[in-house]
Amino acid sequence: MAMVFWGLAGIAVVALIGFFVIAPAVAERGMNRVLPHAPWPVSDRAKALHETLTIGDWHCDSLLWNRDLTRRGTRGHVDLPRLIAGNVAVQVFTTVTRVPAGMNVRDTKPASDRITLLAIAQLWPVKSWRSLCERGLHQARRLHRVADRVPQGLRILRDRADLDRLLADRARGQKVVGALIGAEGAHVLDARLDNLDRLWDAGFRLIGLHHFLDSEVGGSLHGTTRAGLTPYGRDLVRALVAKGFIIDLTHSSVQTARDVLALTDVPLVVSHTGICSFCQSPRNFPDDLMVEIMARGGVAGIGYWAEVIGDPSPAGIAGAVKAAVDLLGEDHVSLGSDFDGAVPQPFDVSELAAVTEALLGAGLPERVIAKVMGGNMVRLLARMLPARGA
Ligand SMILES: [Zn+2]
Repeated sequence: MAMVFWGLAGIAVVALIGFFVIAPAVAERGMNRVLPHAPWPVSDRAKALHETLTIGDWHCDSLLWNRDLTRRGTRGHVDLPRLIAGNVAVQVFTTVTRVPAGMNVRDTKPASDRITLLAIAQLWPVKSWRSLCERGLHQARRLHRVADRVPQGLRILRDRADLDRLLADRARGQKVVGALIGAEGAHVLDARLDNLDRLWDAGFRLIGLHHFLDSEVGGSLHGTTRAGLTPYGRDLVRALVAKGFIIDLTHSSVQTARDVLALTDVPLVVSHTGICSFCQSPRNFPDDLMVEIMARGGVAGIGYWAEVIGDPSPAGIAGAVKAAVDLLGEDHVSLGSDFDGAVPQPFDVSELAAVTEALLGAGLPERVIAKVMGGNMVRLLARMLPARGA
């Protein structure tokens, strides 16, 4: 009997270790792959140019995975050492709080949520198992802990003073990364506008209205309704503008995006996307909508993965960037990698100079490359971040 007990207990322990330790790591290793490649060629000219650039990226999902971001990892695409190796100055870390099973870019239906399982398996606080807001706040706290542990390496950007200080320190040669906290989907509010203050206080500065599901805010680009903003969604947009959040239209339905354009004239971001006429995909907004969004002074972050650009290689990225510059103008194109966002990537962030090389190869002038690699992002942040603290 005792033998049977200890045998069963042993199996239970192995199962628990498998669920809590191994499963999340295996899941990440499978989802955040780097496509096999020989080292991407980077010329001396590209290397030298890359070192002079202020580089920014509008979207990564690294906070979703229980990796120690202060250490160079053997899986995934982003951590602090790799950001520094890639010479990144500003990185948006997005919190992902709900992803339905069976999600797809065409018609995602409500289904069991995968992030709940990930939250339990990664032993996140129990509050975060049920509340999407707690889930977002927990991910933000993980980033604050990185900044607390390695303050010389990573800082959370809350206001323009933080941005100015970051740029000044980098100009003096300090390899420090500025991190901006974002949310992928306003469902992070648990349908309560008063939660906006909690997010703001936790350092959130960018809010995407949607992810894959239609929500209380309105229709997703990937849901079943294609609806526009609900009355709550309109109140939300007004509140976001009033508070000073940057609004991200990625994943919202076309009608939702048009409704936002009708409500406000603040600059808007499409953080991780492609250009539809370059890569026909239900994941990309129609060209005319992109033009309309950017006419307000917005910025589009071009992604690196096949679904939005077709060819996921540095040359493919450069092609998509060039198409974006041609369509939207050189002041409105930026980077939006979707690193660690469960898509296979052509490289990790440490190899980012390959993009500079490819942009030179595509014939873009160095002045335009500097804007795309981060100049445009920094300009928008300088305009949109609050002057101080708040
Ligand atoms: Zn996304």
